[in-house]
Amino acid sequence: MTPQPKPGKVVYSAEQISTRVQELAADISSAYSEDDRLLILGLLKGSFIFMADLVREITLPHHVDFLVASSYGAGKQSSGDVRLLHDPESPLAGRAVIVVEDIVDSGTTLEGVLPRLRAREPASLDVCTLLHKRLTPLDPEPRWVGFDAPNDFLVGYGLDHAEDFRHLPYIASL
Ligand code: 5GP
Ligand code: MG
Repeated sequence: MTPQPKPGKVVYSAEQISTRVQELAADISSAYSEDDRLLILGLLKGSFIFMADLVREITLPHHVDFLVASSYGAGKQSSGDVRLLHDPESPLAGRAVIVVEDIVDSGTTLEGVLPRLRAREPASLDVCTLLHKRLTPLDPEPRWVGFDAPNDFLVGYGLDHAEDFRHLPYIASL
């Protein structure tokens, strides 16, 4: 077995993440009303911990669902081709939808996923990402961003390297 890389410097502590998640949830809670029938859609697997923390801080009633997107290829580089492995079953038409992403890197995942969701005619479609590397301008930019992240490979709080490190309560560079 090849030796496992070890997480290095802590980039965002559990406390920093928790504070920022509360702020994001407050912003989201005041940006919508009950009539919007808010649907929070988590992009698996990376967003699962962020989702769980975020939705518990959102004071507005809402529904939760997940989608699974996959780009071909493994490793640290995302390849261009995005597949939807699991499509949300929840109705999107006429509702306010927020896609929750762990980290935006090249933006390829969102570019692949958003048009497919938009085709289902939500009243609004926005992105909330915990981390944004801001490597390239995106159209549209995520409406809610937790942190502008350094261009390092980050793990923890849902983010993995070859499925390791998702459970860490903080975010570290590898
Ligand atoms: P994009 O499609 O924007 O290039 O990449 C988005 C996806 O690539 C993220 O949802 C995540 O799964 C993965 N990714 C991008 N950057 C990182 C990173 O620094 N660490 C980890 N663990 N995954 C990343
Ligand atoms: Mg991901």
